[in-house]
Amino acid sequence: MGHKSVCLKCYRVENIGVDFTKMKINKCPICSNQMIFLNHKFRPPKKTEKKKWELVKFLIFNGFPFQHIYKNGKSDCFKTEADNYVAYPKNLHEAKEFVIKYKDQKIKTNHSKELS
Ligand SMILES: [Zn+2]
Repeated sequence: MGHKSVCLKCYRVENIGVDFTKMKINKCPICSNQMIFLNHKFRPPKKTEKKKWELVKFLIFNGFPFQHIYKNGKSDCFKTEADNYVAYPKNLHEAKEFVIKYKDQKIKTNHSKELS
C-alpha cells in the first residue's frame, strides 16, 4: 500500500509512502525520465509484464491514473463507497470501453510526454 512514483519508460516503481508533505516526484535514477505519481490503487505489474504496463499507460494517457471512478456520478453518497466504485479494467479491450464509458470522470493530465 501507499503511493508510488513510477517511471513509464523502464517501469521502475518506488514507494513514496502516504505522507503528502514529503512527497516529491523525481526523475528516474536509471533512465532520467520524469517519474509520475500514482495512488495506492495502482498495483504495479512486474517489469516483464509488458501487456499489463501497456494497459497502465493507456489508462494514464486517457486520464485515468487510478483515481476512484464511480458507477453513479461523482458521489461517495451512493450506498457505501465500495458499492459505488468501479473496478479498473484488466485488459486493453476492457480499458477501451472503460475510458469511453467513464469519460466524464477522467482527469486532465500532462503525462503524454512521459509516455512518448
Ligand atoms: Zn526509468
